[in-house]
Amino acid sequence: MPENLKDAINGIRAMNFAGVNVTAPHKIEVIQYLDKIEKSAKRFGAVNTIVNENGALVGYNTDAEGLYRYLLKESIDIKNKDILIIGAGGAALPISLFFSECEVKSITIKNRTPEKAHAIAQYVQSDNNFFIEVNNLKKRYDVVINTTSVGMYPDIFKCPIEDFSFIDSDTAVIDLIYNPEETLFLKTSKNRGAKTLNGLGMLIYQGLLAYEHFADIKLPNNTYEIIKKEVFGK
Ligand code: NAP
Repeated sequence: MPENLKDAINGIRAMNFAGVNVTAPHKIEVIQYLDKIEKSAKRFGAVNTIVNENGALVGYNTDAEGLYRYLLKESIDIKNKDILIIGAGGAALPISLFFSECEVKSITIKNRTPEKAHAIAQYVQSDNNFFIEVNNLKKRYDVVINTTSVGMYPDIFKCPIEDFSFIDSDTAVIDLIYNPEETLFLKTSKNRGAKTLNGLGMLIYQGLLAYEHFADIKLPNNTYEIIKKEVFGK
């Protein structure tokens, strides 16, 4: 509960935990209770990983890099590609900013509330001068990412878009949702021939990156496969 957040954070100090992972809706609120925010988490304006560094609580954000690593693992190279990000919430900002620095060809954000998409576009432009288009869609995209919560259990018959014309058999479609395993958005995209991925891979990778911060180690390359099999039985 948001009102218990401060006590929960103090609990990390009291119990001398090595660190914790933070999920929505606490990723922004938590910042005020930490001792230090690492540079990229500060830029993302959100924290998903808290590390206890000799008593000082330091905030990191591994979400966007987690997604990026997962795409690389799935041989989806975003360099020189047209990217569509659906949604403009807490997950969309780090992804937009991170991807804007990966030599992509273009980024478009499509969101129900245009003001929020414009706010992200302006933020990214002021940060690194990369231009993001808002709600003005191209004919097709190479990579389409759903960062909205639309279609998540129990609302499994909902879909964040109605028009799928910009998705074809050369499009990689990613949904950050992992419950259900195949959202209506992914199913419809797959029916158009697209390569589809759900959010489990990103979840695992952001967690692996968080663990590397907790333990101050580099995990072996096959850790992803081990976690996927042993923890998720996939
Ligand atoms: P958020 O800040 O609450 O943003 C939600 C977004 O969904 C906003 O763009 C919102 O649009 C849109 N939305 C919500 N209901 C809608 C509706 N009925 N119609 C159209 N748009 C709607 O959430 P978040 O933190 O960005 O997280 C978004 C999703 O990503 C969640 O499902 C979360 O579980 C998932 N996620 C997964 C991972 C992973 O590791 N796989 C990591 C982070 C997040 P408006 O701006 O118009 O309100």
